Amino acid sequence: MKLRFIVAICAVVFLVGFCRSLQAQELGPGFHKIKDGIYTFAPDQATTTCSFVVTEVGVVLIDSCNSPLDSRRMAAAIKKVTDKPVMFLIDTETHSDHTGNHFIFSPPATVINAEGAAAGMKKEYNPKRAETLAAKSPELRAALEGFRMITPHIEYKDKMTINLGERTFELIYLKNVHSFADTAVWMPKERVLFASSAANVRTFINLRPTVVLPDVIASYKLMKSLNPEVVVAGHGQPTTTKIFDEYEGYYTLLMKRVGEMAALGKSLDDVKKELKMPEYADWNGQDRLGVNIDAAWKSVKR
Ligand SMILES: [Zn+2]
Repeated sequence: MKLRFIVAICAVVFLVGFCRSLQAQELGPGFHKIKDGIYTFAPDQATTTCSFVVTEVGVVLIDSCNSPLDSRRMAAAIKKVTDKPVMFLIDTETHSDHTGNHFIFSPPATVINAEGAAAGMKKEYNPKRAETLAAKSPELRAALEGFRMITPHIEYKDKMTINLGERTFELIYLKNVHSFADTAVWMPKERVLFASSAANVRTFINLRPTVVLPDVIASYKLMKSLNPEVVVAGHGQPTTTKIFDEYEGYYTLLMKRVGEMAALGKSLDDVKKELKMPEYADWNGQDRLGVNIDAAWKSVKR
């Protein structure tokens, strides 16, 4: 009797587990189910992450995916899960790998990012991007049909709250962490955080000249203080706050080494030639160490 009971429990546990994984798999490769109604497309550690959240009145999308093929997959996945429209599209940054395919979702989606986002997108807009992509394959050309650049319809300052159906989305502006306007999206009830590209997953980030490393570290402290259960970064598969610790450790060590070399009178060029970060030899994007040193140099020379 006892054995039968255990077997029955195991069967239920197995079936629940099996059904869950099937649900995410049904949406296609690269899709992860974070929690009920919360899905992320993140096939590997490099591809731009995009996510969607279903509420009882409509869908909220976070970033519009890099390849228009991924955006079309995303649109199809949303349709499989719900017949509700995409009401809001929140950008976590301004770069085209996150914002270039708004046209696939808007209209009907209202696009939102922090103050300065539209100006930033226009500044970096590459009018040839769509044309160059379309020339790569007939599939890409088809996926780009109707392409046009759409900048955010709404820009907020510092903080914004969206209450949609049963869910709450808190948009938090992160200053100087990655692009011209970066937004973290916090879902307090679900304890899910979409963390922008302030930190990624074990990858050297292409730090632009506007990035200020002490501000980046401050953003990690802020995001950690929310105590999220799941962290979805701008690139890479769903993770936890451990990425904030990893990146804080990395940038702190980088600034320390750069500071010590600068104190010895070395030039930026010397530092770039001599500085090694063997502790992070297994991270992706090793060719970006140079731009990381630029950012650290700026911080220690302030
Ligand atoms: Zn970016």
